Amino acid sequence: MRNIERIFVHCTASRQSATVNDIKAEFKKNGWKNPGYHYLIDKSGVISQLLDDSGVSNGVKGYNSTSINVAYIGGIDDTGKGVDNRTEEQKKSLRNLLKILHKKYPDAEIMGHRDISPDQNNNGIVDSWERIKECPCFNAKEEYKDL
Ligand SMILES: [Zn+2]
Repeated sequence: MRNIERIFVHCTASRQSATVNDIKAEFKKNGWKNPGYHYLIDKSGVISQLLDDSGVSNGVKGYNSTSINVAYIGGIDDTGKGVDNRTEEQKKSLRNLLKILHKKYPDAEIMGHRDISPDQNNNGIVDSWERIKECPCFNAKEEYKDL
């Protein structure tokens, strides 16, 4: 069993209407052997498990071996800007899933991707694909501190 220290919340930074298969295709395009997230929540709130918890996903460089990665599909507006556009269904599923995961890994901290990513050049400019300053486009630490 892996030692889980953190549960990271992400957005996919894709169209909200993207399907689980679209996101999987994206991983493949990136040349990733493993998916970017263990769990993925589509706009209707359906949770798909892409990888067993025992596996290592590709969510946060440098932290993957000790983390579980969870994402909702969406997180950008029509112009590509980061936005919290979670549907009510996504919010509900996300909270339920995190509750279950936190029960399973009580010592793990729930946080957003952006809460750990360094601002590499300290100039606020980051790779658009990773959106390390924004992802998941809301304050996950605050929202789930009661779990
Ligand atoms: Zn992320």
